[in-house]
Amino acid sequence: MKIRIEKAKCVGNARCHAISEQLYPLNDEGYIETDGFEVPPGQEKLAVRGARSCPERIIFVLEEEA
Ligand code: SF4
Repeated sequence: MKIRIEKAKCVGNARCHAISEQLYPLNDEGYIETDGFEVPPGQEKLAVRGARSCPERIIFVLEEEA
């Protein structure tokens, strides 16, 4: 599973960061720091919760073929 983030559209409300500080790090100005990452094994639920928490809907979950 991968996460893709439309970083430029982040408004900095830190909802994703509140779900997981490690998966969704913020920069010094409070905006999302990453434009995507490979979800570490076992962190899928957390990653999805973080994605759903974004009110701007700019965090996308990319499922891979098994
Ligand atoms: S929840 Fe969305 S808008 Fe808010 S900080 Fe995270 S990526 Fe940015």
